[in-house]
Amino acid sequence: MRKGSCLCGAVVFTVEGDMKPPIACHCRECRQQSGHYFAASETRRDAVKFTNDEGLAWYKASDFASRGFCRHCGSKLFWSRDGSPMIHVLMASLEAPTALKLSVHMWAGEKGDYYDIADGLPQVEGDDI
Ligand SMILES: [Zn+2]
Ligand SMILES: [Zn+2]
Repeated sequence: MRKGSCLCGAVVFTVEGDMKPPIACHCRECRQQSGHYFAASETRRDAVKFTNDEGLAWYKASDFASRGFCRHCGSKLFWSRDGSPMIHVLMASLEAPTALKLSVHMWAGEKGDYYDIADGLPQVEGDDI
């Protein structure tokens, strides 16, 4: 079981069971929201159990997905396709050791012009996150 939280503690949760290898998303929306790029691991929505969700808020970022964050401290926490049983958990919200390793760079063509992707992992265009 993994533990996660926002910076201020107004959102605290656990994740039971397996989480998929994390992805990095370099799309414009992820970069603009996160301040750099976005790294997240997908799991089942019902595997995420909240011990505190007082601060949890959702921003409907597009016509098909929403972004979960803490309305007090601003930490980015989740991305989810609307209506999906799956949810992406932001890697930085999880306590170490996560036992997970980044697997792929998505939307590499939309990356910022101020950095390079040089870790040798696959780079793909899409899918949406
Ligand atoms: Zn917070
Ligand atoms: Zn993205």
